[in-house]
Amino acid sequence: MTAIPSSCDVLVIGGGPAGSSAATHLAQAGIDVVLLDRATFPRNQVGESLIPHIWKFTDMTGVSEKIEQEGFLAKAGSITAWNGKIKQIRFSDFGYTRPGLHVERDIFDDILLKHAQSCDARVFHEVAVKKIDLSDSRWPKVHYTDKRGSSNDDGSIRCRFVVDASGPSSLLANQFKTRRTISTQTNFLSLWGYFTDSRFVGVDRQSHSEDELAKVKPVTFVMSFEDGWIWHIVLRGKTSVGLIAPTERTKGMDRQQREAFFLNVCTKLPHLSRLLETAQFIEGSLQFRPNYSYYSDNICGENYYCIGDAAAFVDPVFSHGVQNALYNAAAAALAIKESLKHERHRLRYSQLCESRMQQFYGFSRALSLGDFGCNGVNPQLVKNLMKAMPPLELELILFASETTNRSENFRRLAREAGVLGCFEESFSGKAHERIEALDF
Ligand SMILES: Cc1cc2nc3c(=O)[nH]c(=O)nc-3n(C[C@H](O)[C@H](O)[C@H](O)COP(=O)(O)OP(=O)(O)OC[C@H]3O[C@@H](n4cnc5c(N)ncnc54)[C@H](O)[C@@H]3O)c2cc1C
Repeated sequence: MTAIPSSCDVLVIGGGPAGSSAATHLAQAGIDVVLLDRATFPRNQVGESLIPHIWKFTDMTGVSEKIEQEGFLAKAGSITAWNGKIKQIRFSDFGYTRPGLHVERDIFDDILLKHAQSCDARVFHEVAVKKIDLSDSRWPKVHYTDKRGSSNDDGSIRCRFVVDASGPSSLLANQFKTRRTISTQTNFLSLWGYFTDSRFVGVDRQSHSEDELAKVKPVTFVMSFEDGWIWHIVLRGKTSVGLIAPTERTKGMDRQQREAFFLNVCTKLPHLSRLLETAQFIEGSLQFRPNYSYYSDNICGENYYCIGDAAAFVDPVFSHGVQNALYNAAAAALAIKESLKHERHRLRYSQLCESRMQQFYGFSRALSLGDFGCNGVNPQLVKNLMKAMPPLELELILFASETTNRSENFRRLAREAGVLGCFEESFSGKAHERIEALDF
């Protein structure tokens, strides 16, 4: 068993997309990085629909080819049935030449983490971080329990920067007591599980059996129902189906009751029930996450960076999570690299990074939840980001918000930022292009 070193330049907590990508960026710059994850990989994770935006980040770390070689399903876009209106997004209509992906996250995350290792990040599995001591501003100390094999040994490691990429555990934000649940009118939960032999929705708007995956590109299918909305994401050999509903909706239910509720929704909804007609639910696959939207208003400091879900998570409706994690990883790695070169500016770099990351979360929040000016969102930061975005990317996002009737606030921000004019005309054309019915 390799000994965990007692010091390093950067200690990364968590080997999900955020942590592994940050570790890769830093190791590629010759920085001594140690990454600890409490799990053994490959490990289970939700979030299987990836948008094409991820490629610009995976190109930066040089992992794109390994992802392509895995042969994940390429998705062409999405079809949304929201309050009876059916809309389609094809990424190619917005200038994207590379597809989105439907990935098994255990495999995807493992590729990213192995890539970090191949770039000389030192990775340790089954090591759980317990506490982060930032009191010595030059040498933070991270306390962990090493659970490898049959051991259960406490230890600590000193470093110059801590990157908290611990996902929803949000270790630092919890330690700072800055983690807040986002409450709009209500809080939401997610329940998700897996089916075999489901039909899938193709880019041709028809339903197909799994053996047609080689012939027809799939899309992510999303539909609303009286309590919330559901996703349907076909993978290789199984399909992920998830449900979003107010947390209150399953209050007091035990695991069995939640499963009955989930399966009942699946069998009663139009379209979804047809897709699942011949499918079998994989016993024991149901998972549950209540109150999944949260944020923190302190995510970067002179010796720490919280990235990915450790900093915030908004809402899965536009499949932003992994993209956000990769973006944060790139931003934090850049700030750390510069801080190591110019130590006296490290506070300034962390402030710049915080502002960039808050822009992105604010943007996601304005887009997904339609609320801003509260819950820690600074509308000016969101507008700044809108101004910096390529017009087609912004147009795709505005169109996506339109598919789920969430565009009102988002459009207002874009108008105030002075960026709506350049694409409003073409947007209106696409927004009114409705599919009258789905043939399944
Ligand atoms: C219901 C739902 C659906 C979603 N759907 C999508 C989607 O379709 N597309 C999309 O892009 N995103 C989606 N997401 C979001 C996506 O899953 C996350 O944004 C993404 O996984 C964030 O990556 P991360 O690296 O920040 O965290 P994670 O992937 O959560 O990784 C965190 C890592 O930290 C480790 N860790 C935690 N605590 C400790 C500790 N104490 N010590 C050491 N290690 C620790 C964990 O073992 C884990 O490996 C969804 C999220 C939810 C809740």
